[in-house]
Amino acid sequence: MEAGSDVIWKTTPDLGFLDEVMAIPGGEDVITCIQCGNCSGSCPTSRDMDYSPRQVFALTRAGYRDVVLGSKAIWLCCSCYNCTARCPKEIKITDILYKMKQLAMRYGYKNPETKKARTLAKEFTDTVRKYGRNHEMTLLRNYMLKTDPFGAVGQAPLGMRLFSKGRLSLFPKKNKGVKEVRKILDHIEKGRG
Ligand code: SF4
Ligand code: SF4
Repeated sequence: MEAGSDVIWKTTPDLGFLDEVMAIPGGEDVITCIQCGNCSGSCPTSRDMDYSPRQVFALTRAGYRDVVLGSKAIWLCCSCYNCTARCPKEIKITDILYKMKQLAMRYGYKNPETKKARTLAKEFTDTVRKYGRNHEMTLLRNYMLKTDPFGAVGQAPLGMRLFSKGRLSLFPKKNKGVKEVRKILDHIEKGRG
């Protein structure tokens, strides 16, 4: 390992983490990873990650819970599914990384470098929970206020252009099935989805 090797040597492995990942639907396949690196080579964001997808799986198998759940890597995954399509072992890499983000949120891992991604994920979920669907204006406003309030002023002209072309609505509309959507979110947040 190159990236973050100091952190790894100072961290105590926890093999219970591997069990936890293997309990994720598709997660049991992590142990079949042959470390070929196809995933990392196919990944458009791996060069900005602290650990490549291949390394994330190696660290998971070795029980490095804090390193994996505290990493930038899981938050930089943009769910393009390139890795999943090219994995020779048909491991559901994208879905497993997505679940790792949920675990990181649940256990309160707060790498300062992932603050924007974590905030966006939380604001998106909160907006969907409130209205039963996303509302871009609400999401953007809340995200900008929490991450870069002064930057929001600079984004105003873009917002106006989108609004004038009918691409942004000012007011959210609640989905009739909002209660069902909330139940689905509860189910996912309890780790059952
Ligand atoms: S492509 Fe699949 S088998 Fe190869 S390193 Fe990535 S996860 Fe492991
Ligand atoms: S799904 Fe995520 S990890 Fe896989 S290639 Fe795309 S960005 Fe990289």
